[in-house]
Amino acid sequence: MKLILLGAPGAGKGTQAELICEKLKIPTISTGNIIREALKNGTEMGLKAKAFVDEGKLVPDEVVIGIIKERLAKDDCKNGFILDGFPRTIPQAEALDTMGIEIDKVLSIEVKDEDIIRRMSGRRVCGDCGASYHIEYKKPVVEGVCNVCGGELTIRKDDKPETVLDRLKVYHEQTEPLKEYYGKKGMLVTVEGQEELKDTTKLTFEALGI
Ligand code: AMP
Repeated sequence: MKLILLGAPGAGKGTQAELICEKLKIPTISTGNIIREALKNGTEMGLKAKAFVDEGKLVPDEVVIGIIKERLAKDDCKNGFILDGFPRTIPQAEALDTMGIEIDKVLSIEVKDEDIIRRMSGRRVCGDCGASYHIEYKKPVVEGVCNVCGGELTIRKDDKPETVLDRLKVYHEQTEPLKEYYGKKGMLVTVEGQEELKDTTKLTFEALGI
C-alpha cells in the first residue's frame, strides 16, 4: 500500500500514520521529521530549511522533492509506505507522478480551523525521536517523557499560536488544492477528525479498507 496523508497541521496525520504503519508494517515518511532532524544536526539542508520552518512557511519544492527521492529509493519502501506531510504543493505531487510512483490512496483528515488551533496548544513532540503526543488526547505513559525512546517531550517552535495561523493559511492556499488534484484522479478518501483518537482511527481504517 502506497499512501498519502493530507490534512492541516495538527489534524492527526502523524498519529494515524503511526497506527497504519503498525498495522500494515510499512514505513512512515514524514518530511517534517526529516527536516527537524536535519535542523537539529545542523546539516546543509537543515540550514537551508530553518528560516522557512521557523516562520511556518513551506521549504522550497526542490529541497523536499530531493529529500523524498532519496528516502523512497531505500529498501524498506519496496512494499509500500505512508507519506505524512508530502506532497504539500501541486508541483510536489507532479514530481511524485514524474518519478513513476503509483499511489494507491490519498486520505484527507478534515478538522476545522478552530479545532486545529485549540489542539495545537496541547501538542508535544519528542526532541530525540520525533514521536508525537498530546497532553489530553494522546498522553505519554510518564508525563514529559517519550514512550518510545525515553527522550524529553517539548513544544515544537512552530506550534506557537502566531505560527500556527500562518501554517493554516499556507495549508489552505497551497496544500488544500491537492484534494481536487487527487479527487479528479479518483484517489481521494476523506475522514472527519473526531474528538477521540480511537474514533478517527476506526474511520481511517474503514476508509482504507484495512
Ligand atoms: P510538519 O511536521 O509536517 O508539520 O512540517 C513542519 C515544517 O516542515 C512545515 O511547516 C514546513 O516548513 C516543512 N515541511 C514539511 N514537509 C514539507 C513539504 N512537503 N513541503 C514544504 N515544506 C515542508
